[in-house]
Amino acid sequence: MIYLDYTANTPADPAVLEAFLNTEQNYIGNPNSNHPAGQAAREKMARVTDSIAAMLGVSPAEIIYTSGASESNNLALKGVAQASRHMGRHIISTALEHSSVGGTLTALQSQGCEIDLVDIRPDGTIDLEQLRELLRKDTILVSVCAVDSELGTVQPIRQIAQILRGFPSCRLHVDATQAVGKTELVLEGVDTMSIAPHKFYGLNGSGLLLKRKDLVIEPQIHGGSSTTIYRSGTPALALAVSVEKALALTLENQVQRIQYVSALNRELRAALSRYPMVRINSPEGAVPHILNLSVTGVKGTAFQRALGEEGVCVSVKSACSTDGTPSRAVFAVSRDRKNALSSWRISLSHLTTREELAQFMQAFDRCCHRLLPGR
Ligand code: PLP
Repeated sequence: MIYLDYTANTPADPAVLEAFLNTEQNYIGNPNSNHPAGQAAREKMARVTDSIAAMLGVSPAEIIYTSGASESNNLALKGVAQASRHMGRHIISTALEHSSVGGTLTALQSQGCEIDLVDIRPDGTIDLEQLRELLRKDTILVSVCAVDSELGTVQPIRQIAQILRGFPSCRLHVDATQAVGKTELVLEGVDTMSIAPHKFYGLNGSGLLLKRKDLVIEPQIHGGSSTTIYRSGTPALALAVSVEKALALTLENQVQRIQYVSALNRELRAALSRYPMVRINSPEGAVPHILNLSVTGVKGTAFQRALGEEGVCVSVKSACSTDGTPSRAVFAVSRDRKNALSSWRISLSHLTTREELAQFMQAFDRCCHRLLPGR
């Protein structure tokens, strides 16, 4: 099997698994309990949270542990919308967002919020001029992904935050799920940020929402105070330890991993560009880990199936989106429905080898002959 879908999920690093297992075995107490076992777990939880906060450049009180980015996005968007109801109901977002943002916005719309989507320019970044025009006194939230999962475009978060300075009742939510380890994390001017360790060799079922300390949002899981009043439940100590380990490994190795993946991306783009029917959809400035392309005349789902039969794993849109419809993200950039229907995504990792890419290109060539006979 050749796995080229690291944007959907990454394998857990063995050191992350070991850290998780050690903690599960050695800390049996509930961090909320007032006895020695509970106290030991509570102290460990505090140390781990301090360490995660230091790595991210936030304060420990700004970390909310969640089950993943979908929960983080739901908590941030619903939490802000509900807490800001008295100030307005207008929200601005983009067509590049993951379904956990898009779906939450649809739910908020049915509860009376008004949603505007800002245009995407051909280079994949949002139209900042249009953002300025869309902003109103009653805009309570702008939600933008730092890096989108389909094209890998990096959004100008600093500039967006700068624009929002003129709108004090408007909060900025950044879905940074695809940014960690792939590009710089920008936190200045950001009110809430979603992070999912299973995208950077951590464990499924763990996530973070960073929330600026003085920002009040409405919790979505009510109960006891746990590590924070914003998300009740027994603190998952071993998962928190796994997040710390995954984050540390990712940040330590980020520069050399990006360099390696960038080289792979250049080689892959060069190999694919020899096929006249290939159109690369990821803009030049995209993170090198994500390469979105279309093979003209073949639906993305058909190409994905054909590659699957060859033992190659790639993705059409993001893993959580509805099947058979054109990619909103590719359409937003290319304004070409057929191209959006033909698009699919290769995603690379520092674990990807040149040998795997050579085998992928052979499989790709066979699929082109099978699906486009005579071309
Ligand atoms: N946001 C983005 C940009 C994603 O790529 C994903 C997953 O693919 C999510 C959110 C959802 O993450 P999770 O699976 O951790 O809920």
